[in-house]
This record gives sequence, structure tokens and C-alpha cells, in this order.
Amino acid sequence: MRQPSRPRLGAAVTLLEAGSRVGQNILASGSRRCNLTHTGVAPDAYDAPEFVAPVLAECGCQDVLAFFGDLGLLTYADDEGRVYPVTNAANSVLDVLRLEYAHLGVVERFEFEVALPGHTLSLDTPALAHLRLPVTGTGYAVQAQVTRGGAQLAGFDPATIAPRVARGVFAAGEVLDVDGRCGGFNLHWAWASGIVADKSAVRQGGL
Ligand SMILES: Cc1cc2nc3c(=O)[nH]c(=O)nc-3n(C[C@H](O)[C@H](O)[C@H](O)COP(=O)(O)OP(=O)(O)OC[C@H]3O[C@@H](n4cnc5c(N)ncnc54)[C@H](O)[C@@H]3O)c2cc1C
Repeated sequence: MRQPSRPRLGAAVTLLEAGSRVGQNILASGSRRCNLTHTGVAPDAYDAPEFVAPVLAECGCQDVLAFFGDLGLLTYADDEGRVYPVTNAANSVLDVLRLEYAHLGVVERFEFEVALPGHTLSLDTPALAHLRLPVTGTGYAVQAQVTRGGAQLAGFDPATIAPRVARGVFAAGEVLDVDGRCGGFNLHWAWASGIVADKSAVRQGGL
């Protein structure tokens, strides 16, 4: 049996969102169809294979599909292994997530900026001080599919997604310096690292 998540165990959970709505990238993903994972998820699809390996071992494609299946989401994989909701509508994915956490009593707070502790997310700025990158042009923001960079992985334990220097804090998704190929790998990383962080929080919190 899968380990229940914190809200399912009765923990009070508050979602703090800087914007006025949650899940905007989910809605934009996969040309608004939400390519939520890939049947070929494996460490070598990411730029940090050693870091992602234990997370993917605990939460692979079938685990993510089971997670969403439990929430009532039906999915299919195309010929290239990209997984979409059968509705071909990204809002189906966001809807099942929001219905579940409304059911569990998760509180949403919007336009709330989280202040992250500088020591856990500090960048190696001296090493970058002399870097010069000529800008030759920009694309449209909607063309950008993933944000590169993020918190340095050396500061995190990949087994728990917890910073090595702070207890009770976890990171998941794009805030970590992990990038995957296009095709569902980046959303997979967001779900999988979030699920592993949740399990770690349950273990640490003794719930
Ligand atoms: C147009 C587009 C298409 C994409 N298509 C795909 C695809 O088909 N398949 C795929 O796998 N990936 C795709 N991606 C990438 C994927 O959407 C991201 O990798 C994924 O959403 C990352 O999830 P996340 O939760 O880490 O970050 P986000 O989805 O960016 O969520 C972070 C949330 O935190 C909020 N936030 C940020 N800073 C703060 C703060 N200081 N305080 C409080 N809240 C804050 C943001 O407003 C946002 O709501 C696409 C991305 C884009 C932009």
C-alpha cells in the first residue's frame, strides 16, 4: 500500500502562492493538453542523473500514473510515450489536484511571497562574476518550457530532497537545479520530487 501523504494523515497544509492562481504552468503545458509524464522516464533523461535516480526509483512513471489514477484522472500515452489526460485538456490535471486538496482541507493563500532562507539557496555568485554572455535576441515567453538553474544539488540529500543544513524544509520541482528533456520529463520531476519530499516530511515529522 502506498504511504499516505501529509494532508491525508490529517496534517494542516497551507499552500502559499505568489500569484493570484495556482497551476498556471500545468495549464500551459503540452500545448494546453498537459504532457504530464513519459513512459520512458529514466535518470539519463535529466542533466543530473545521479541526483534524480533515487527519486525516480521511488516514483517512476507508473507511480505517477497511479497517483493521478487514484484522483480519477484517465490518461493515455501517444506513440512516443508522452502521457496526456484522455480529455486532452490540461485543466483536467489541475482540476483533480485542486479537488483533492480541497477535499483534504488544504488552505490556499494567494499573492503570498515565500521568503526562502538564503543559506540554503545561495548561488555561487563569485564564480559567475566574470561570466559574459552576449545576448543575441529573445524568444517569446510562451516558448520557454523549463527554467534552468536553481538550488545547487550538492546542498540536498537526493534520498529525502531535504537540504543538508536544515531540518524540516524540503524542495521539489524547478526550484532545484534539475532539467529534463521535453516530453513530460519536467512535470514528472515536479510530481516525483514532490511526492518523495512529502514522504520524507511524513517520516521526519513522525506522522
Ligand atoms: C509553456 C510551457 C509548456 C510546458 N510544457 C511541458 C510539458 O508538456 N511537459 C513537461 O513535462 N513540462 C512542461 N513544461 C515545464 C513544466 O511546466 C515545469 O517543469 C513544471 O511546471 C515545474 O513545476 P514546479 O512546481 O517546480 O514550478 P511551477 O509550475 O513554476 O510552480 C511554481 C509556483 O510557485 C509560485 N511561486 C514562485 N515563487 C514563489 C514565491 N517566492 N512565493 C510563493 N510562490 C511562488 C509560482 O507562481 C508558481 O505558481 C512546460 C512549461 C511551460 C512554461
